[in-house]
Amino acid sequence: EQLNMEEKAKYIKGKKLGEGTYANVYLGTLRSDPTHFVAIKKIKIQAEYTEGLAPDAVRELKHLQELSHPNIITLHSVFSSRDQNLNLVLEFLPLGDLEMLIKDVEGVRYGAADIKAWMGMLSRAVWFCHANAVLHRDIKPNNLLIAADGMVKLADFGLARAFADPYKQMTSNVITRWYRPPELLFGARHYSGAVDIWAVGLVFAELLIRTPYLAGDTEVHQISLICQAIGTPTEEVWPGVSKLPEYTVPEPHNPVRGRETYLGTFGTAGYEGVDLLMAMLVLDPRARITAQAVLEHPWWSCEPRPTRKEDLPRKG
Ligand code: ADP
Repeated sequence: EQLNMEEKAKYIKGKKLGEGTYANVYLGTLRSDPTHFVAIKKIKIQAEYTEGLAPDAVRELKHLQELSHPNIITLHSVFSSRDQNLNLVLEFLPLGDLEMLIKDVEGVRYGAADIKAWMGMLSRAVWFCHANAVLHRDIKPNNLLIAADGMVKLADFGLARAFADPYKQMTSNVITRWYRPPELLFGARHYSGAVDIWAVGLVFAELLIRTPYLAGDTEVHQISLICQAIGTPTEEVWPGVSKLPEYTVPEPHNPVRGRETYLGTFGTAGYEGVDLLMAMLVLDPRARITAQAVLEHPWWSCEPRPTRKEDLPRKG
C-alpha cells in the first residue's frame, strides 16, 4: 500500500490520449521531470472482478515487467488508484502504430526495405516472448507502436499468458479475428507460439498489399477466406485437424496454394520474402515456422537490406 502510494506520487496525470477496449489512456509526466512523458493506461474495472484485479490486467503486468527488450513496450510502473482501478505506466509512444502507416492516412509511402526493417523488429520481439515462454496472442498492426527513433514496439499484452501453464485450459477465443490462426478458429484448447507466427504472417502480408489480407466478417467467413486464399485444412495437409472441437470446412476443398500464387500477390517481397511468408502461413501449427527459424531465414540477408530505424517512414 505504501509502495503503491509512492509509485502513484511519481506521476502527474494529464489529458486523455485515447480509449481502448479495456482501458483509457492518459498522458502523464514525471513529477521530478515534467519534460519526461509517459502513457498511463487505466484499466477499466470489470464488475465480476471487483474483489481483486482483473485477470487480464494482472497478466499484462506480469509479462510486461518480465520482458525487457527494445522491441517490446516498457512498463515503468504499476499502481492502483483510489477507485481500485489498475494503472499501468508505459513508455510514451505518440507516433501511432503500423495500422496507421498501412492505412496511409497521412500519405506515407514505404517500400520493401522498410517492410523488412519492421518485420525484423516484430520477429525479434516475438522470438523474445517465445524464448521466455510467453505468448502474445493478439499481434496485429494496431498493437505495433512506433517510437520516436523509429523503433517498432510490441504492445498490449492484455491477452498474453505463459504457455507453461499446464493446469489451465486456454480459451480459444483470443486474437482479433483477422489474425486468428486456423487451430484457434477450430477451437483448439492446447496451442503454442505458432498462433503468434500466423498473426506475424498476416501482418507481413498486410504490409505488402496495404490492406488486411484475410478480413473475415464472422468466424465462419474467416475460415472460408483461409480455405480460399491459403488452402483447405484437411487430414492430408494437417493430420488430426478433423478431430478439433469446432472443425468444419466448406466444400469443395481447395489444395494448398503454391509458390506461384504467392509470388503473384506478394511478389514485391522477392523470392525469399515469399518463401518466409509461406512458411508463416502453413495451416498445420506443428509444421509452421518457429520464431527462431524466422530469424535464421535467408530473407534477412538478401537485398534489399532493411532500412535503418532512423530512416523509416513515419507520419507527421
Ligand atoms: P487499443 O489497443 O484498442 O487501441 P489501447 O488501450 O491500447 O487500446 O490504447 C488506446 C489509445 O491510447 C491508442 O489508440 C493510442 O492512441 C493511445 N495509446 C495507447 N498506448 C499508448 C502509448 N504507450 N503511448 C501513447 N499513446 C498510447
